[in-house]
Amino acid sequence: YTHKKIMLDKTDLSPLISTSSTSLFTLADLQHAIESHYLIIFYQPQIELRSGKVVGFEALVRLQHPERGMIFPDQFIGLAEQNNLISSITNEVIDLVITDYGLFCEKGIEPNISINISAQDLLDLSLPEQLSTRLANVGIPTGAITFELTESAVLTSISDSLDIMNRLRMKGFALSIDDFGTGHSSLVQLYQAPFTELKIDRSFVMKMLDDDEAMSIVKVCIYLAKELKMETVAEGVETEEIWNKLKELGCDIAQGFYRAKPMSLKACCDWLTTEFNI
Ligand code: C2E
Ligand code: CA
Ligand code: CA
Ligand code: CA
Repeated sequence: YTHKKIMLDKTDLSPLISTSSTSLFTLADLQHAIESHYLIIFYQPQIELRSGKVVGFEALVRLQHPERGMIFPDQFIGLAEQNNLISSITNEVIDLVITDYGLFCEKGIEPNISINISAQDLLDLSLPEQLSTRLANVGIPTGAITFELTESAVLTSISDSLDIMNRLRMKGFALSIDDFGTGHSSLVQLYQAPFTELKIDRSFVMKMLDDDEAMSIVKVCIYLAKELKMETVAEGVETEEIWNKLKELGCDIAQGFYRAKPMSLKACCDWLTTEFNI
């Protein structure tokens, strides 16, 4: 990942900078960006297929740099993970979500917000207590927050992770297994971990109508989640055909460009007004 090129702005091809020590976008830059509160959250709606209702939003972090423009998470989360900066990002993301939650409430909705967390977040035993206190202080129920974890994050340190996940569940947070099918978790691990939601990876969802194997995996995910009493979320739903098929297969929730891209809070509120009269 260190050798990956960073493209700071899709419209500006000149600063194709690597994350090596000679790059302009260094660890110090990332640190500075976090401290300067350049991180912002875009929200992507999650829609219940059966009812067509918006049930929540996934919080997706971006770095809004005054000179370099919008930088996407794929370009800095890895750097943060390698350099112990992920907890500062997670903390900032939670602060931003807490602020925005108040604004959603002013609009009369109390949405579920899904927040992505990394392997290192699952090493901090104080996290569950800390988070529930922070939310209680501002009156947000823990049940309104889902933490999304990937299989590899859980497997990095399985016994500590399970401990923290169980504590998070006991505090009332929901837990989602993200990018399901792309990692290496076994059924046993899935069964042991207290997940409430299974997110089918978009690589399967996007191909499901053209590729029999992808379709089989989507079906198995839905079946498995039902058996384990977990909700299913399909990510990367880009077309009406895929939307309809997922609905027919009994998938619970869909997220993807077909209905809505990740949006700023303002755009999100406008979208709710246009689409749902909220
Ligand atoms: P993810 O958790 O799998 O998030 C879904 C990604 O799919 C998002 O990319 C989203 O914009 C994109 N997406 C949504 N709908 C569609 C669709 O219909 N088609 C396609 N092709 N893509 C779609 P994004 O926002 O660039 O985030 C990339 C990854 O960065 C996320 O993948 C997640 O792993 C990570 N990430 C984002 N925010 C955070 C954060 O606050 N903390 C941590 N630790 N990681 C984050
Ligand atoms: Ca996610
Ligand atoms: Ca995902
Ligand atoms: Ca992903």
